[in-house]
Amino acid sequence: MNATSVLSSRGVVKKFGGFTALSGIDFDLGPNERVGLIGPNGSGKSTFVNCLTGALPCDAGTIDFGGTDITGMAAWRRARLGLARSFQIPRPFRGLTVRRNIEVPLAFAAGLSDQAQIEAQAEEVLVRVGLAAKSRKAPRSLSQVELRKLELGRALAARPKVLIADEAMAGLSDSEVDEILVLLMQLNDSGIAIVLIEHIMRAVVRFSQRVIVLVAGAKIAEGTPQDVMSHPEVVRAYLGQ
Ligand code: ADP
Ligand code: MG
Repeated sequence: MNATSVLSSRGVVKKFGGFTALSGIDFDLGPNERVGLIGPNGSGKSTFVNCLTGALPCDAGTIDFGGTDITGMAAWRRARLGLARSFQIPRPFRGLTVRRNIEVPLAFAAGLSDQAQIEAQAEEVLVRVGLAAKSRKAPRSLSQVELRKLELGRALAARPKVLIADEAMAGLSDSEVDEILVLLMQLNDSGIAIVLIEHIMRAVVRFSQRVIVLVAGAKIAEGTPQDVMSHPEVVRAYLGQ
């Protein structure tokens, strides 16, 4: 493992039956780094996130989080260590208010037990993601961009060192994409390393210090946004879509 990485993988393989979704991924994320993870639909991005965060077991390879081997660790333990993710499709608890949606991960992932402290910190998270005014609303009353912010708030409540945002901008307007970008930049400024999985290239280029490209379960390119976007295999993979 790279000693300077907060999160890294070596040789991660994931198979679904006879289909190899990930064929040996090496990955490193520096503390406070901003990395873009791109690739055509079905290239294995979400599967890789699932392996990193423990939603899926990997079939081979190792995953390290800040010097701890987390390869076989339960997802909730990884979350407690500071590894958070947001889902491609927002998954709020529909029956709970916006604030209660933040309180649940505060209690379970961050491990808080004092109710007054939980409520105060939930309000703080809602301010951070720009949803303070929606605190007592139901998730169904939120707009698409607000649901994305709630999803990020739920991830933040676990006080992560690393946040993996899986297509947090899909389906948003240009100005809403900018709102989420600004929010992610603020979170990064506060010390959180971020992996951004995104199809909107404008957002990826603006956000990422480094870009990693997956195609058919393999890493085919890695480098600065400018280098990666002009890489022949990347051009081919995207034009071939
Ligand atoms: P991406 O996020 O890059 O669009 P995914 O990681 O979702 O891609 O999927 C990668 C490949 O693995 C796809 O071919 C997808 O159909 C397959 N896949 C993902 N999850 C499962 C699953 N639970 N069972 C079977 N196949 C899956
Ligand atoms: Mg995906």
